[in-house]
Amino acid sequence: MSLDCLFCKIVNREIPSEFLYEDDTYVVFKDIKPAAPVHLLLVPKKHIRCINDLTEEDRDILSGLFMVAKEMAKEQGVNESGYKLLFNVEKGGGQEIFHLHLHLIGGWKKN
Ligand code: AMP
Ligand code: ZN
Repeated sequence: MSLDCLFCKIVNREIPSEFLYEDDTYVVFKDIKPAAPVHLLLVPKKHIRCINDLTEEDRDILSGLFMVAKEMAKEQGVNESGYKLLFNVEKGGGQEIFHLHLHLIGGWKKN
């Protein structure tokens, strides 16, 4: 855990947030500034700064994150209409919170 990390504080319930999903390894909550009708943040509980900082021991965390994404997409009803999964990496890649998280974005109007 990193003391001044916002997402560590959310994970540890120091800052209130409604979890749509939680297990021993991950939490999922809604993005506070949604970029689409469905915009979730899938967050490993372990403090990892960003994709650049992954180590061998994080392999299972990362693969499991995609399984959570698949389940959340289904739960949110966007699995068939489609969605995006996005990691922003470092400032130049748009990362603002330096605790690894996967954006799940979807729910646009269907044509
Ligand atoms: P990134 O730019 O990839 O670091 O994404 C950080 C995301 O966290 C942004 O989309 C923010 O809108 C979102 N965010 C910041 N603070 C909170 C919060 N307290 N609860 C939920 N989402 C947040
Ligand atoms: Zn953190």
